[in-house]
Amino acid sequence: MAFVITQACIGTKASECEKVCPVDAIHPREDQPSFEQTEQLYIDPSVCIDCGACMAVCPVRAIYPDEDPVWAIPKPFRYFIEKNADYYRLDPEAFTQKYPPGVTRRKVVKVKGS
Ligand code: SF4
Repeated sequence: MAFVITQACIGTKASECEKVCPVDAIHPREDQPSFEQTEQLYIDPSVCIDCGACMAVCPVRAIYPDEDPVWAIPKPFRYFIEKNADYYRLDPEAFTQKYPPGVTRRKVVKVKGS
């Protein structure tokens, strides 16, 4: 299991989450050059230890566990599970092609066929 940052982070990037993460699983940090170019923050599922600290401090409730039966990600946001993981496994150009900045959730969901 891992936690996932979803739609409400886009354009917000409050960054409280990355400050409390004990394992540095959330990027980009405010001090990284890519912060300004990135529309939201992402959790690396291979690093996240499922502590839940980020979810507790997010001011826009953008963070969910990817498999929790109680706090499950709403269906339209499940696409963010792949998006968070892709931020770490794709090169920046491939990531931007797959997830063009400014694409709304409705458009993305339609493109993904969900
Ligand atoms: S659940 Fe914990 S380890 Fe995972 S990203 Fe959030 S703060 Fe970091």
